Amino acid sequence: MSRRLEIPAAIAVGELAVRARGIGVQLDGKRILEGVDLDLHAGEVLALIGPNGAGKSTLLGVLSGDAALTTGTVEIAGVPLGDWHLQVLARQRAVLAQSNAVAFPFSVAEIVEMGRAPWRRTPLEDDDERAVAEAMELTEVTRFAERAYPSLSGGERARASLARVLAQRTGIVMLDEPTAALDLKHQEAVLRIARERAAAGDAVVVVLHDLNLAAAYADRVALLADGRLHSAGAPEQVLTAETIAEVYQHPVEIVRHPRTGRAIVVPLRD
Ligand code: ADP
Ligand code: MG
Repeated sequence: MSRRLEIPAAIAVGELAVRARGIGVQLDGKRILEGVDLDLHAGEVLALIGPNGAGKSTLLGVLSGDAALTTGTVEIAGVPLGDWHLQVLARQRAVLAQSNAVAFPFSVAEIVEMGRAPWRRTPLEDDDERAVAEAMELTEVTRFAERAYPSLSGGERARASLARVLAQRTGIVMLDEPTAALDLKHQEAVLRIARERAAAGDAVVVVLHDLNLAAAYADRVALLADGRLHSAGAPEQVLTAETIAEVYQHPVEIVRHPRTGRAIVVPLRD
């Protein structure tokens, strides 16, 4: 009973929120991930990038505890994943999966309220209404609150699912391609929210395909290629023309934003 009431302590900014070492995943005899070491700190936005099939979703699944690993260890706030009580883990990390298939016609409000389930029977249950309303405002889905989730467009569904994750109010946020279906305004909004959460001390890892979003918003970038961590570091260290051309197998040019100096990746075109 006492474990049910457990509320994870905040992780101090700069401290390790997630520590993964020697991560290997094999599925049906196929090597999906091998030897991946990755750190995620409280207070940072880490962008996870890499070509289709590189293993980004698998790695996010392993980091969150939703997918099994074959070798290696993952610690959340210094505690091995396997030692976490599932309900308590759900108060520490929230996950936006890549596919948000919902079979039943729940309303958007009901979907977002599901983010509060881990806090049931804790004192933080008192925040439910505010957390749900705030998350729906941030993702601009308030006006869809009573609509059936399956009736929304792909982008609207993605925002409603993100609202569920934000409403969970965890210190660690893991987002798998949250911007894939979104228009320009909402892509920027999602990354701005990620930055705000990091500024408030949360640890945010986000899978992105848009390298320019990664360059503009991430503190650090981790590049996966063929199941291995190719490189990790500041965006300007990882996002070089040589590296991108090699890993994505397409020539690119890196130009600098005239005001921010951030990298802009431009594919070379004939
Ligand atoms: P990413 O998110 O980087 O596009 P994924 O992590 O989804 O990549 O997948 C990595 C690789 O693992 C892909 O080649 C994919 O086809 C393969 N894969 C994923 N799930 C399975 C599975 N259940 N069985 C076999 N192969 C899988
Ligand atoms: Mg994926």
